Amino acid sequence: MRSPRFAYFEGRIVPFDQARVSVATHAFNYGTAVFGGLRGYWNADRQRLFVFRPWEHYQRLLYSARLLCMEVSYDVESLIQITLDLLRAEAWQEDVYIRPMFYKADTGIGVRLHNLKEELTIWSTPFQKYIQNDTSAHVTISSWRRIDDNVIPARGKVSGAYVNSALAKTDAARAGFDEALVLDQNGHVSEGSAMNVFMVRDGVVITPPVTENILEGITRRTVLELVRNELGLPVVERPIDRSEVAICDEFFMTGTAAQIVAVTRVDHRPIGNGVMGPITARLRELFEDVVRGRNERYCAWLLEV
Ligand code: PMP
Repeated sequence: MRSPRFAYFEGRIVPFDQARVSVATHAFNYGTAVFGGLRGYWNADRQRLFVFRPWEHYQRLLYSARLLCMEVSYDVESLIQITLDLLRAEAWQEDVYIRPMFYKADTGIGVRLHNLKEELTIWSTPFQKYIQNDTSAHVTISSWRRIDDNVIPARGKVSGAYVNSALAKTDAARAGFDEALVLDQNGHVSEGSAMNVFMVRDGVVITPPVTENILEGITRRTVLELVRNELGLPVVERPIDRSEVAICDEFFMTGTAAQIVAVTRVDHRPIGNGVMGPITARLRELFEDVVRGRNERYCAWLLEV
């Protein structure tokens, strides 16, 4: 990671290396933090940075904070203002990733959520591809199961819960795969390690509903809207069986970091023809134009820095 110059920390923008917490910090010991992940896209023609759907990202961050009983004094608009101040200070002229986090900032011993104070930090860093092979990814069905809503809510972006994602990702990577597909306790396909999943069967675009132990992804929402509005294809939100991955026509994963990743093999079976399908390819093109401010119809999704 290229080091940022600044971070928002304890109420103000400070030099990045002054944004430090104690080893006794509650969030460091118990995973009691919630975070977000946004992207800023550099448009070289217009010499502008655009942040993609920050309103939705920050609303989700505030929902995550509520899940951990955080009483934060920020709203979406104030979070966006801090983000703008930070990005203007950095003056990035390339694609970036933005990481906001609310964390339980008290020091000391004691597992709980109540009677603890929260702090906010936000920083950003230059960022390119997350999954290198994003046009023909090879995934494996993980032996790890997705955390359940009654264990740690997957719809919250809770720091501690990311051990679940990390277990799945590392086993997949060490076995030579690009990514993991994680099943929930019912054996349905829920997500990748940090991305939502979609399949195409007989011209219908299918993704698990938000009640299937998934993060309510902003890219997922974006793709659902693009499929309906731009491709005019039917969309169904329903559970996906493991065996459907082997027989579907196309499969892709979506996330802020991953963007839209075409999956062409699962374990050692080809998906469809074993190459990126036309619907995935079209969505990737549309998405790239939308996030860089090249599609007028969706400029309301962008915040110009
Ligand atoms: N699922 C998980 C577990 C994730 O961490 C992410 C990345 N935030 C996603 C899905 C995709 O969500 P989004 O499109 O909002 O980045």
